[in-house]
Amino acid sequence: MSSVTSDVKTETAEILTRLGVHSSLYSSGNLNAYTPVTGEKIATIPAHTADHAAQIIDAAHIAFKEWRMVPAPRRGELIRLFGEELRAAKDDLGRLVSIEAGKITSEGLGEVQEMIDICDFAVGLSRQLYGLTIATERAGHRMMETWHPLGVVGVISAFNFPVAVWAWNTALALVCGNSVVWKPSEKSLLTALACDALLARALKRFGDAPKNLSSVLLGDRVMGEALVDNAKVALVSATGSTRMGREVGPRLAKRFARSILELGGNNAGIVCPSADQDMALRAIAFGAMGTAGQRCTTMRRLFVHESIYDQFVPRLQKAYQSVSVGNPLTSSALVGPLIDKQSFDAMQESLKKAEAQGGKITGGNRVDLGLENAYYAKPALVEMPKQTSPVTEETFAPILYVMKYSDFDDVLEKHNAVGAGLSSSIFTLNLQEAERFLSAEGSDCGIANVNIGTSGAEIGGAFGGEKETGGGRESGSDAWKGYMRRATNTINYSKALPLAQGVSFDIE
Ligand code: NAD
Repeated sequence: MSSVTSDVKTETAEILTRLGVHSSLYSSGNLNAYTPVTGEKIATIPAHTADHAAQIIDAAHIAFKEWRMVPAPRRGELIRLFGEELRAAKDDLGRLVSIEAGKITSEGLGEVQEMIDICDFAVGLSRQLYGLTIATERAGHRMMETWHPLGVVGVISAFNFPVAVWAWNTALALVCGNSVVWKPSEKSLLTALACDALLARALKRFGDAPKNLSSVLLGDRVMGEALVDNAKVALVSATGSTRMGREVGPRLAKRFARSILELGGNNAGIVCPSADQDMALRAIAFGAMGTAGQRCTTMRRLFVHESIYDQFVPRLQKAYQSVSVGNPLTSSALVGPLIDKQSFDAMQESLKKAEAQGGKITGGNRVDLGLENAYYAKPALVEMPKQTSPVTEETFAPILYVMKYSDFDDVLEKHNAVGAGLSSSIFTLNLQEAERFLSAEGSDCGIANVNIGTSGAEIGGAFGGEKETGGGRESGSDAWKGYMRRATNTINYSKALPLAQGVSFDIE
């Protein structure tokens, strides 16, 4: 085991060097970086203090004042260069994501591809920050909207998307004329250092960007709180658990700061009688077992129509039994490790509760790779008699609760009867069912799919969810508007001063 560990540690150091992270940044300090792949410590990093946080935010605020005056297409040029750096570093950064978050190779690379995609999107956006021209009721007047940079954008991110979430926010925030201060998860510090180094390369090539345009704040939740409470931070985009959002949301509201909250999910799928079962099986397998169940969009609940239940669920059970679980760095396994012991314990706790509620479990056991501190688990499929707790809560692990349904109205009701509202899917070839699922009386989630699983969103659409998922939107569509302030301008080019709504106020 020690040789595996030192291999990972050596490889990590080699990758970090190639990505431009100096070893002094991760060779001593009070924060430990672990790899879930072997469970071993691979680096130590110095944490920032509250004083550092205040200084970093002050410096970001100064950078914002300069950056906001740079024309948006020129700001886009920085993101174009950053996209180039990411393309060149894709293999290394993807591998580092696998080392630090335990993702299988294609998912580690896929996460970096998401960063590249959002850069491409943001470059185009830099020439499309459109405002409306609006008809005015007054002669000789013009009314329009203009969009202005907002300020310092604070980004708080979770361990499971250690690089993409920051990139979604940062590419948009920078193009929109803001500066960024990032508080990454304390479980993904090395990928944060790597992202910072890659952006620094792009900044160097760009030439004349203000200093401190983008910074990283390293530490635990206290550093997140420093962002949340600092009046110079205009917007905090916080990704993580609903527990975190419950703390962060009210604190931001108290000082009237903007927030984009991207919180927990409890995503469900519905398999209808007409479903293409082969397609549904593949989509559900990836949605529920992929990323070892550690995506916010992981499928956690499944409703299968009673007429096909006995045909479909055994096929799914077979997929659960045969799925390969293993070291994502040295094997082609489809499921890697859970992030840590706490996560494995939470999984076991939920399975115990489900069993006590009448759940019938396939899988869920620890997979022994001879690595004492690494936590690999067989994904669990649990047939539940009813949607009771723990089905109604998010356990951030690969557990899929399967339930039988008979009536479409009833299944829609059950689908929506949980706190979270992130992602959802229906598998059907029946147009009425598909359209009803997408309609006002259908799925109440921010993402609703037909014949596609719950996970694996593209960056072109706005990403986020309703209810306890927090209501935030980031990434594509018009999510950029959340990173800017809107001004409505009315210009009088007449020689009179007519008041709106016919009000008269004539002074002599
Ligand atoms: P977490 O809530 O434990 O931590 C997320 C981040 O918040 C970390 O950087 C942490 O340091 C910080 N934080 C925690 N408490 C804070 C506080 N009081 N003030 C300020 N910052 C605080 O989440 P995690 O375990 O890293 O990630 C898993 C969770 O994230 C799951 O619930 C998952 O569904 C969710 N998630 C949501 C999305 C989304 O887009 N909706 C994406 C990824 C993950």
